[in-house]
Order: sequence, then structure tokens, then C-alpha cells
Amino acid sequence: MSSAERSILHVDMDAFYASVEQRDNPDLRGKPLVVGGGSNRGVVAAASYEARDFGIRSAMPMAEAKRRCDHLVQVKPRMSHYKEASKSIFAIFHEFTPLVEGLSLDEAFLDVTASVKLFGSPATIATMIKQRVLEDTHLTTSVGVAQNKLVAKIASDLDKPDGLTIVMPDSYRERLDPLPARVIPGIGRETLKRLQRINVVTVRDLRTAEDRDLEPIFGRFTQKTRDRASGLDDRPVIPNREEKSISAEETYDRDLSKPADMERELLRLSERTAARLRKAALGASTVQVKIRRADFTTYTRQRSLKPPSNGTDQIYEAARELLAGWLSSNPGAKIRLLGVGGSKLAPAAQADLFENDGMRDGHSAIDDTVDEIRQKFGPLSVGRAKTLDR
Ligand SMILES: [Mg+2]
Repeated sequence: MSSAERSILHVDMDAFYASVEQRDNPDLRGKPLVVGGGSNRGVVAAASYEARDFGIRSAMPMAEAKRRCDHLVQVKPRMSHYKEASKSIFAIFHEFTPLVEGLSLDEAFLDVTASVKLFGSPATIATMIKQRVLEDTHLTTSVGVAQNKLVAKIASDLDKPDGLTIVMPDSYRERLDPLPARVIPGIGRETLKRLQRINVVTVRDLRTAEDRDLEPIFGRFTQKTRDRASGLDDRPVIPNREEKSISAEETYDRDLSKPADMERELLRLSERTAARLRKAALGASTVQVKIRRADFTTYTRQRSLKPPSNGTDQIYEAARELLAGWLSSNPGAKIRLLGVGGSKLAPAAQADLFENDGMRDGHSAIDDTVDEIRQKFGPLSVGRAKTLDR
């Protein structure tokens, strides 16, 4: 059985929409806040932890939320900002494993079984991901670490916010038994009512109930339900889709105003994007630069790359030209976010056709060395000298 043991993370952003609002507007920090539609008829899409102290939850009618807290702050959703943060977060997930199954903008399963060799234990990977997400997006996450999706998802919820909870088989009973039966997937409100009628309230009750009591409720899913209540789950992590582009971006605490600082950041981002392309054995035919000004206006510039490449230098050169072009028409701009991406991806073998000057797959020996060191010591272990003077 141990050869089939898997390491699964469930990563879940804390009060995601509300946290993005509090991050972007300091006036909202520490306040009970809900994100949701404009009228009283709307429902709460997300509630800050301060609002949750008043018993306010997502999906609650807005009028009810306001009744519970008279100084509740209501903010209209800004989906484009949440999507933006989500992209950054998923880009980080993909640095640790290609097996990322997104459940929503702010939640994903990661199968890191094969990543352990490169980065360390699943708990270490979870810690690195939490740290990277915090650095890049200034948002906190809660991570559950387990051997399957079911337990990982339950675990991520046990110590929110900013949690990291590991639940291994030897503690299934201790950790799962006391929880309400609704934590088991597939148990909705109607089923809960029926379970209550047979005195099944907790996971333990569900695990130990008689078949003759469960069968009228779960039918042919009775055994499966009991397995779930015992922490058993063999569903694989299914990556959502092939990547159409690979990118890295960062939002800065302080706006960048010096071109030299922008270039240094651009190199760091190019390095990350290029390393991910190399890991995926892909070359980019197009390089994009994303630039967000301090006033939130966002620009993208792109150019093609011939031959397609996954070399840090090639991608950085293209990105630098794009930034220089943009700066010439936006002199003195202050920049809040920078991103570098590669798209129109081709298998790296195709880039090989253009091999020359000691380049392999359109990248150089130094790229291989950097990749090797990062594989041994983690993604933060090495950068080029120019990127280190932060
Ligand atoms: Mg969440």
C-alpha cells in the first residue's frame, strides 16, 4: 500500500474576495466587511473575518448580514482584481507541481507526490507555497496536507486563517470523528436532516452507523459514504487543462519608479517564467509583458520570439525591449505590478531545430545550472546576481 501513498495539498485562500479588498484599501482593514451585490436583495459573496465574528457567512442574504452588524461595510465585487490575484496564486502552484486541480478562483488541490524529491516534505512544500503566495499577493492561505483529497480539504479548514494542518492516517479518527457529518462531500442540507433523524450528527456517528440505518438514505453509496467518513478516498487530482501560457508576475509594496529597478524585476520574472517553460519542456513563440501603473491602469505588450525559446536571456531581452518601448510613451511612470509571460507554446524539441551557439532548446548552460540548483535547494535558492540586490 505504501507504494501507492500520495501527498496531496488542498490550498484555500482565506476570505479571498474580502481579503483582496482589505489588501487594496487600508481603510477597510480590521473592519467587518462583506463583498456582495449592490442591493439589499443580494447575498454575501464573501465576509471578512471581522464580519464572521458577527455570524455573517457567505451566501447569507445581505439584509440579514446588515441586521447582524449595524456598522457592516459593504463593497461591490471587483472580479477582475480577484481573477488577477487568482492567476498569480495558480502560477505559484504550478511552480511546485503540474498536477493542479482548481476548484474555484481561490482553491485548488495539488498532487505533490513527485515534487517531494525536489522540494522536501509535503509540509515543507506547503510552507513554501504559503510564503510565496504571501510575498507575491500579500494574501494568506490555509493549507491541508494529507494522503488524499478528502482529508486534505477537511484539513485546510481546521485552522483558518493562515493555517497549515497535516492529517495522516494515524490521526484520522482523532481529527475527523468529532467533525459534523456535513464535512463529508455529497452530504447536503436534505441528507443532513435525514441523518439527524437517525441520530447521526458527527463523522464518527456516520462511520459507525448500522448499514440498515444508512441504506435508506445512501442506497448503493452507503459503503462509499462510510469509507469517506473513515478518511478513505482514492480520487486522483486531475489538472484542469493544458496550459496555454506560462507567466509570472508580482505586485510591489512600493511602486517602482526607476527603470533600473523595473529591469531587475523584469529579469527575476523572466527567470521564473523561463524556468517553468523549461520544466514543462516548452518554448514560447510570444513574450508578453504586463504593466500596471500605480493608478491601476493595466497595459500588455507582446512580441514574437524567433526561434521559440525558454531561455532566460531570450525572454528577458524581449521583455526588456517591450518595457523600454512602453516607458518611452509613458515617461516617469510609477509601476505597481509587473508580469512576464510566454504564450503560443511549442514543445521544446521544436525549438531544438534552431539550435546554435551552444544553446539547447533555445536556452543556455547557465539556465541548466540554475534549474539544477533550484531542483536541489528549492525555487528561492538561486537567482542571477542582478536580481539579488533587493
Ligand atoms: Mg477560500
